[in-house]
Amino acid sequence: MVKLKIIPELIRLLKIIGRECAKLKINAYLVGGPVRDLFLGKANIDLDIVLDKDVKTVLPSLAKLLSAKYIYHPQFKTAKLFLDSLYIDIATAREEIYPCLGSLPRVFPTTDIKKDLFRRDFSINAMAIKICEGGLGELLDPYNGWEDLRKGKIRVLHEKSFLDDPTRIIRAIRFCVRLDFTLEKNTRLWLKKAVSRRVFSQISSARLGNEIFKLLQEKNLLAGIKKLRDLCGLKIIHPQIIFNRRWERYFPEVSKWSRDFVQKTSQKVEEWLIYFIFLTVKLDKDALQELCDKYELGKNNRLLVMHTYELKRIEEAKLHNSKYSQLFNLLKPIFPETIIFLIARLENKSLQKKLFEFLVRCSQIRLYTNGERLKKLGFSPGPIFNKILATLFLAKLDGKISTQREEEDFVKETFLR
Ligand code: ATP
Repeated sequence: MVKLKIIPELIRLLKIIGRECAKLKINAYLVGGPVRDLFLGKANIDLDIVLDKDVKTVLPSLAKLLSAKYIYHPQFKTAKLFLDSLYIDIATAREEIYPCLGSLPRVFPTTDIKKDLFRRDFSINAMAIKICEGGLGELLDPYNGWEDLRKGKIRVLHEKSFLDDPTRIIRAIRFCVRLDFTLEKNTRLWLKKAVSRRVFSQISSARLGNEIFKLLQEKNLLAGIKKLRDLCGLKIIHPQIIFNRRWERYFPEVSKWSRDFVQKTSQKVEEWLIYFIFLTVKLDKDALQELCDKYELGKNNRLLVMHTYELKRIEEAKLHNSKYSQLFNLLKPIFPETIIFLIARLENKSLQKKLFEFLVRCSQIRLYTNGERLKKLGFSPGPIFNKILATLFLAKLDGKISTQREEEDFVKETFLR
């Protein structure tokens, strides 16, 4: 058996959990993703724990021992413990029965951990390690997940798995590309059979969208999209989406410019949204709006996607010939994702650089002037404040002014004369 690396802080927590559960005669297990990740050599794992008794029997004492806050969901018998720098998911073991294909399962508590493992998607995610007083104990691997990990295989636990839950099709593709694994022979066959039965029509678009978004967050997402194309067809996202060979050129650009932007500004970029925009770029406005609705994209993300839609036809010449302040007015509101989308499609390297520098500058500019300072300069609060601050911002963007003194002189000269 392999030697597991695990960071000392997690071992400390596992020991506390192990001790408390042993005291209450509860069996506790580390399950699913973290077990897989431990065997893959990851030292910092999520703590995903299953108990063979109702979580609420141990929750208050555990929370006290760990100095944690917690939320308990009585309808699912699951809980989340919030520690200073991490959280722990704890669930009561459960088994699932699918009343009909694609529907959400009926869930029952169970004391048999094997049943809890059997409801899981793939063998590599259906292993558990006993948590004991000394930390991690024996491995429970009733469906041979360890062997599949070693062989690099994604394998479902039974023939009806993809019919029970078609989101597992996208999950299978995701794990294949993440781990550079292949589908086990029968799994591939059952997956293709499920696709030919149009199983995706049986699940909600929101669930499908959620899995597609997760696929777009994988490092090797282009391989994921290709695999999705080959196994399911991109039409499962939308009938008008077809694979575009240019993505092979654009996607590395997105990743490069996003990385540069984060490095320069320490701001976050939702890279996956840029890939989503690329996938859906050929849709007309109504279709895109409808897809965003169906996939229940959050309000800000939807705003960003629709805004990019409006901007995508701006001519290169216009971008070339504009000063930063004009670019700002042309492209506002400025979302890094939108600008990176525009940059990634450009062939012209100097224009790419110009747009990137514009974006960085927009993100870094801070005004010394604020409402308080304007009052001190003699202005009365009102709509004029916004006008002054916006004018100052544009002047600063164009490099006309820089210091606090220059800001004040500019305000006086422009608005007090
Ligand atoms: P990631 O690193 O992407 O978070 P993960 O395996 O932890 O990987 P989750 O989506 O958080 O993924 O799921 C946690 C566990 O729940 C999985 O390891 C798997 O055992 C189980 N699981 C998740 N989704 C399904 C599903 N659709 N069907 C069956 N089991 C699932």
